[in-house]
Amino acid sequence: MANKKERTLVVLKPDAVQRNLIGEIIQRFERIGLKLVAMKMVVASENHIEKHYTLDPEWRRKVGEKTIKGYKEKGQSPPSEDPIKISKQVLEGLVKFMTSGPMIVMIWEGAHAVKIVRKLVGGTEPLSSDVGTIRGDYVLDSYEMSDTDGRAIRNLVHASGSAEEAEIEVNHWFSPDEIISYRLVQDEILYDVNLDGILE
Ligand code: ADP
Ligand code: MG
Repeated sequence: MANKKERTLVVLKPDAVQRNLIGEIIQRFERIGLKLVAMKMVVASENHIEKHYTLDPEWRRKVGEKTIKGYKEKGQSPPSEDPIKISKQVLEGLVKFMTSGPMIVMIWEGAHAVKIVRKLVGGTEPLSSDVGTIRGDYVLDSYEMSDTDGRAIRNLVHASGSAEEAEIEVNHWFSPDEIISYRLVQDEILYDVNLDGILE
């Protein structure tokens, strides 16, 4: 059975704040029916960002493999065939990028929250992410540009990759008293079985 209170961590990275896209991006999560249950503006420390990305011990391998695949799908050769080597440069770039200015950190709640948010956010590389997604619609970066410049891809948003990852990330960024449980009137039209309170 679907967990109607599934939670996911979303971070609007410094580029989203600088490009005045906070409202535009938040609107996409609001209008699909998810509920905002925590939000703050932060300037993160280097240590906090490094920890955030290495909470998953497999992340280094996965980010390297995804990058290599991204190059090969375009018929290009990756900067290295070693995923761990690639991930080292990616992490250094991410630490610089994600500490460069304020970010908005949020928790969104609802059925399938993790998958729904990933769908709205789109693939990691803006160049190849689908039209209609946040990364596909609002930014134009590519692996080619970011790797040549030795920096992180500027793709506006971080979103948890799985419900387990989300739980760990939520704990990394928020204390329990910063998360608010509340009812929205719209919850009924999304989740109620009978909808018997509408007609007078
Ligand atoms: P996602 O954010 O889509 O879950 P990952 O967890 O694989 O992607 O990577 C984390 C972040 O690292 C990405 O959002 C992007 O900003 C950056 N990144 C990933 N791969 C590269 C790369 N090859 N070069 C530069 N930056 C990268
Ligand atoms: Mg990720």
